[in-house]
Amino acid sequence: MARRKKIYEGKAKTLYEGPEPGTIVQYFKDDATAFNAEKKDVIDGKGVLNNLLSEYFMVGLGQVGVPTHFLKRLNMREQLVRSCEIVPLEVIVRNYAAGTMSKRLGIDEGTQLPRPIVEYCYKDDSLGDPLVTEEHIAAFGWASQQDMDDILSLALRVNDFLSGIMYGVGIKLVDFKIEIGRIYDGDFQRLVVADEISPDSCRLWDMETNQKLDKDVFRRDLGSLTDAYSEVARRLGLMPNNPASITKPTLIN
Ligand code: 5GP
Repeated sequence: MARRKKIYEGKAKTLYEGPEPGTIVQYFKDDATAFNAEKKDVIDGKGVLNNLLSEYFMVGLGQVGVPTHFLKRLNMREQLVRSCEIVPLEVIVRNYAAGTMSKRLGIDEGTQLPRPIVEYCYKDDSLGDPLVTEEHIAAFGWASQQDMDDILSLALRVNDFLSGIMYGVGIKLVDFKIEIGRIYDGDFQRLVVADEISPDSCRLWDMETNQKLDKDVFRRDLGSLTDAYSEVARRLGLMPNNPASITKPTLIN
């Protein structure tokens, strides 16, 4: 079989050239990193779970008319996506205070915000993805005013969709990060939700107990990350209720 051309290797995913022009294969690794890769580990099965969960959210977004780069899942670890130029911003939407917002503003984690708050960080690992304002974005030409209007609208639509899905399975969507891609069709460009949507890039808390079901489990050493992600997948109906029941061989008489 011909070797695929690797385009990029990130912390949690590797990108390969896709089978058709304008497509990319996104491979989900088991690597987990936090604090700008100061903390690292390999978590068995994380890539498989994120591939499944990201597919679920991207397909759902497409069904409610939010454009994404997702084309199809290829296998347990890979999905085919449309190639796009990534806008160099992390778009964060917060419904409850947590993480850096709590630290920066001294608001207790878990405090409900008066309305969803959208933040932008400049994607640069060497700078630690600093928070920036629309002034920086316009002045440095990272996105136009029209792009920013579209990005805000995409971010809020993703928030409404994900909050609703999660609410339905007893999970609070505390916050999340998305990335935005530009796809060119001739002279036109459109913006789509790109990268991944998974518990790696969201804060998900159980509605009743506030138990964390996201990457904070790894960041803060709170237990098994695969158990947490599997619980999200199970509640969304993406896993059998009792995975052990399908892994055991059965004797056929
Ligand atoms: P915070 O700014 O509080 O660290 O993060 C806010 C939200 O964005 C959290 O859900 C967090 O998981 C997500 N987030 C922020 N930066 C990154 C990043 O570099 N990678 C990933 N996967 N998620 C991020």
